[in-house]
This record gives sequence, C-alpha cells and structure tokens, in this order.
Amino acid sequence: TGSSKSTQAAVKAADRAHVFHPWSAQDLIDPLVVAGAEGSYFWDHDGNRYLDFSSQLVNTNIGHQHPKVVAAVQEQAARLCTVAPGFAVDVRSEAARLIARRTPGDLDKIFFTNGGAEAVENAVRMARLHTGRPKILSAYRSYHGATAAAINLTGDPRRWPSDTASAGVVHFWGPYLYRSHFHATSEVQECERALAHLEEVVAFEGPQTIAAIVLETVVGTAGILVPPAGYLAGVREICDRYGIVFVLDEVMAGFGRTGRWFAADHWGVVPDLLTFAKGVNSGYVPLGGVAISAEIAATFATRPYPGGLTYSGHPLACASAVATINAMADEGIVENAARIGADVLGPGLAELAERHPSVGEVRGTGVFWALELVRDRETREPLVPYNATGEANGPMAAFAAACREGGLWPFVNMNRTHVVPPCTITEAEAKEGLAVLDTALTVADAYTAA
Ligand code: PLP
Repeated sequence: TGSSKSTQAAVKAADRAHVFHPWSAQDLIDPLVVAGAEGSYFWDHDGNRYLDFSSQLVNTNIGHQHPKVVAAVQEQAARLCTVAPGFAVDVRSEAARLIARRTPGDLDKIFFTNGGAEAVENAVRMARLHTGRPKILSAYRSYHGATAAAINLTGDPRRWPSDTASAGVVHFWGPYLYRSHFHATSEVQECERALAHLEEVVAFEGPQTIAAIVLETVVGTAGILVPPAGYLAGVREICDRYGIVFVLDEVMAGFGRTGRWFAADHWGVVPDLLTFAKGVNSGYVPLGGVAISAEIAATFATRPYPGGLTYSGHPLACASAVATINAMADEGIVENAARIGADVLGPGLAELAERHPSVGEVRGTGVFWALELVRDRETREPLVPYNATGEANGPMAAFAAACREGGLWPFVNMNRTHVVPPCTITEAEAKEGLAVLDTALTVADAYTAA
C-alpha cells in the first residue's frame, strides 16, 4: 500500500540520516528495512518476506520472537531491569548454572560479557595472567571479533585494517582438506600434518612464550570448517605438553548450531576456557561470556581478576538466556538442529551439488553448512577471488541477489554461501530454502567453465 511504501522510505531515510553502519562505506550501502520477524522469517513494510538462512549474524538459534523468551524479558523488565555486576541476583545465578551444566568438563564458572569479542578479550586476559606468558596462537581462517585483541586473533581479512604488530598474536594454518595447505589427500593426513605444523610453530615461537592457542571449534564465518577426527584432541595434547591454555571459541558454533549444545561435544574435547555469545540467548539482549575451568578459576581465587564491564551479567540478558536455554531443552531444539542437518540439509545440499557445477564442496553439520562455489570443479578455482570486492565479486553478488529475489536471505562470505538457519527451522522451511538455492545456483553456474 501507499502508506507502507512511505513507511519503508521514511525508515530508510532516517537510517541514512544518522546511523553509521559497521564494516561499510557509508555512502555505498542500501540497508533493507525490517519491519518485523517471527520464527524463521522476517519482513519489510512492503510485504516482502524473507526466509532467514543467515539467522541474522548466525545468532537467532531459537528463531525470531520466541514467545517464552519475549515473556521472560518483559517479566524481568518489570521486576529488575539493571543491577551492577558486583551484586548477587537470582536470574544471573540461574543463567550461569544452566550454562555451566552444559559446558564440557569442569568449565563451571561463568564470566559474563555483552558479546563475543569481549568474551575473547577476557579469555585472552585470563590465559596471559594464568600463564604469565605473552603470546597467543590462532588460525588464519578464523574470526574472533572486532575489539583490540579479538581482531588481532582474527585470521581473515577483517583483521588487516586494524592489525597491530604489538598484539603478540601468531597465526597458523588449521585443517582444511578441500584447500589443503599441507598437500594432504585424506582427512587423516590433513589432521596429522596440521598438528605437526602447529607443533612446529609452537617450537619455533618458544613454548614458554605462548599463553594460549585459540580456535573456533568449528570455524564459522571463515568457511564452516569442521575439524577432522583427532585434530582437537591433538591440539589439547600440544597444550598439555607445553602448559598452554586451550581456548575454544564457541561464539558461533555453540548452543545448538552444530546439533549439539557445544561443538566440542562432538569430539569429547574439554578446553580450559570456552567463549560463547550469540545462541546463548539468540541475541534478544546482548550477552556473551567465558566458561572457566577449575584450574584457571583457582588462579583468581585470592588474586583479583583485573577485568569487568558495567553490564556484565545484565538481568535482561540473563533472563533471556534462562528462557532460551530452558525452551531449547524443553522443545528439543538442539535435537531438531541435528535432525534437520542429517535428514534434510545434508542430503538436500549434496543433491544440489550433484546438479550444479558451481558447487565445489558441501560441508557442515546441524544447521551449520557451507557451499563453496567454484569456477571449475577440477581446478577448484573459487567463483570469486579471495576477499574480492566490487566487480570482481560480481558472481557472488548476482547469486545473493537471486536468493533474495526468491525470498531467501542468504549468508554470503567470499566464494561461499553459508546455510545457517535457526535451529528451530522446520523440514518444510528447510526444503523451501533449498528450492530457492537450487534456482539461485543456476545463476552461479553461468560463471563456471562447464
Ligand atoms: N567469535 C566468533 C567465532 C564469532 O563468529 C564472532 C562473531 O561473529 C565473534 C567471536 C565476535 O562476536 P561479537 O560480534 O558478538 O563481538
């Protein structure tokens, strides 16, 4: 209608007047106006509806507007909106208990932050103070956030503009068989060689200088890289051998995304610190944190921990986490993610790969998948060059536009589209999304050698 059209235009104009957007050249963006959302969908004021295959920034694990979480935030707002982190509050204690019950091993103390980057920032601080060592090792194909330490840990090009040589971060190659840095031809070989490489980096950096190795359990934005069996256990061994703190970043992979509460559960690996955010409360209110092992917690038993945030363990955020975790448990949402991955997305994406020459590889688990798009399946040349922008990124931009025209909101990164819907997605919705991808992939196919 005319009135909704003018609402759409007015909201966009107001955005362009005063909102400064992240990661963007301000004059070159055209943000979609969002009017509302429910479950796996969101829509604008003009009646255009999108199936959200991105879960926003891979955070709405429980879908949009879950009624129990909305009610919990409303009830908490009426009861107690805010209180400083130094006080004890029922809702914060309960959120910590529910998280600690699910985190692997003895990670039983929870330090709350407002998001993922702050969680990583504090994990790094804890590791340095616990070991008294300066350096942190992380993988090239990684994203850990945009604050000072977190952006230096980040391995992908989002680091470059903020890189500081003083950060004490050393990068290494993780396992990635499809584009193996180790000339490996099997998962077993890739795993062995990636571990040998890491051990060599540790030896040459000097083990006594390394506080922590930080890894995403399953690499998220940098490619949905599921580690081969034995890799994380091997990293755990290296850490144990040299007294290095093992940090698993589960900001994106945690809370159901991989079909388990934590991705580490797939391999039975227990880190010393685990960072979380996003899925802990689906981002209804900003929340993140660090789950801390008994040994590291003991370091700060009589020595003060030198870090904190005004909103650490914010009551509204904690109330939404309690409601989210309880709803996920009561409604079998983690199991749904596993089932949709195994029965619908896994087979459905494999079937698309068979018919579309632009699909080089399909990989993932749960509701955490990537399609790697290529010009040529033989040479594996990416559909667009690494970190391409503008015209060079044309084929991926055309693919994304075709998804949106079909009513699907994709998560596109470099030459990949990630299939990362809410953990609550139904079979029918997943199939609806696969059908749109099928059509959009014909656009990508047109750029291939085939
Ligand atoms: N770590 C990982 C693995 C992430 O995927 C992200 C965000 O995408 C972060 C850390 C940073 O989280 P935030 O954006 O909440 O600071």
